[in-house]
Amino acid sequence: MEKLAIAIDGPAGAGKSTISKLVANRINLNYIDTGAMYRAITYKVINNGIEFDDKVEIIKLLNSTSIDFNHNHIYLDGKNVDKEIRENKISKNVSYIAKIKEVREKMVEIQRKIASNKSVIMDGRDIGTHVLPKADFKFYINASVEERGRRRYEELKEKNFDTTLEKIIEEIKNRDRIDSTREISPLRKSEDAFEIDTTNLTIDQVVDKIIKTIEKRRE
Ligand code: C5P
Repeated sequence: MEKLAIAIDGPAGAGKSTISKLVANRINLNYIDTGAMYRAITYKVINNGIEFDDKVEIIKLLNSTSIDFNHNHIYLDGKNVDKEIRENKISKNVSYIAKIKEVREKMVEIQRKIASNKSVIMDGRDIGTHVLPKADFKFYINASVEERGRRRYEELKEKNFDTTLEKIIEEIKNRDRIDSTREISPLRKSEDAFEIDTTNLTIDQVVDKIIKTIEKRRE
């Protein structure tokens, strides 16, 4: 099979990662969660007690940081941080770090390198518009903010996290606002992306839609 690149973009909580993982399993691709990379550097910034607006210190830290994937697990300086990066304090603050030019440049370089030698399905905010503009397939996954908030809230409740649906919706709105108004490669639907609104769809329906689209064009 020839090398394949699939870009999946969309706002927070739209279901990108769940969907991408399932598509990856069904058609045998490597799944790359670019959000996990921005989360990992945010985790390190917080652990080092650096303020989110202290660009000089953040860039210094970035220069002595390694971020990599191994079998779908995210490694920060050689340590698996799958769990740590999902904490709500990371979700709430990651967009402040992800808007820094130098942070984005380093992450994009790693992302392109990964995609250069294997077939990938990569999810994020700027994959179709910036990281892999020549991707074979581009999808923009969306859902109403209320539905996205409800999904995230259910997830957190399962982990016994003490919060309210209203708070989660506000946090998601804030993250989307920062992600879509930042200067460098903001969250945006690529003109040639196929948009899927998942508000009233099940995960399986979305996965089927994506796989059908891919198969149809490759026949
Ligand atoms: O996808 P996830 O919610 O884990 O992404 C966390 C954050 O990382 C996003 O809200 C955004 O600020 C940043 N991000 C980004 N570009 C990407 C992927 C994620 O700016 N390609």
